[in-house]
Amino acid sequence: MVASAARAVTKKGVAMRRAFTKSEAEIFFSRLAKALPEPKTELVYTNAFTLLVAVVLSAQATDKGVNKATGPLFKIADTPGKMAALGEAGVSEFIKTIGLYRGKAKNVIALSKLLLEKHGGEVPHEREALEALPGVGRKTANVVLNVAFGEGTIAVDTHIFRVANRTGLAPGKTPRAVEDSLMKIVPAHYLLHAHHWLILHGRYVCVARAPKCPDCVVCDLCRYSDKTKPVTKRAARSKARAKRQGI
Ligand code: SF4
Repeated sequence: MVASAARAVTKKGVAMRRAFTKSEAEIFFSRLAKALPEPKTELVYTNAFTLLVAVVLSAQATDKGVNKATGPLFKIADTPGKMAALGEAGVSEFIKTIGLYRGKAKNVIALSKLLLEKHGGEVPHEREALEALPGVGRKTANVVLNVAFGEGTIAVDTHIFRVANRTGLAPGKTPRAVEDSLMKIVPAHYLLHAHHWLILHGRYVCVARAPKCPDCVVCDLCRYSDKTKPVTKRAARSKARAKRQGI
């Protein structure tokens, strides 16, 4: 998904552009911060373990869909012990509305057992230990390190990948390249929340099709050459007229 987003981004609107300076990056994040002072993940969780499970389940699924399934699941299984006791079939019953649920149920049970065996039932703070858990890759580990343990990591999903490339803030051909570019350009005092600001900006403003450039707080800094034009009064009137006439 991210690779196809890369192609879409690089095909259109992205020529050779001047790189962001540190002071431009400072202004970029100060604007996102002002627009949303306390950004949070939209996944619902109650502790580090339920956050980890929610993130594992969220691969190729919407946060809304995951929350719908995990609400009832986490009421009865909010620890690795309780989750392991449910077994794969038990977990599947709760998450069968989520894509790829069979494989995800298998991973959730396997990671719960591994947490019990190797980490005393706790979610480890170390990247290496997190990435050794079934179904947990670099992106999931970055989310857990950031949200549960307050580390300044950035998990590059499809939204962040698009925003970083489109704006020219942190261009890169792969999620890892974008992550590395972001770690260099994001001012240290914005690192903790940078991940959420970029995701939410990509999810609600800098959307894949027809980004909402006229409403964008970083429009003057953004290097995208195909920005959506503001709707003029005349165009709005003509659109309304066409609608009235059923054209
Ligand atoms: S100006 Fe448009 S393309 Fe640039 S960040 Fe804003 S919404 Fe995205």
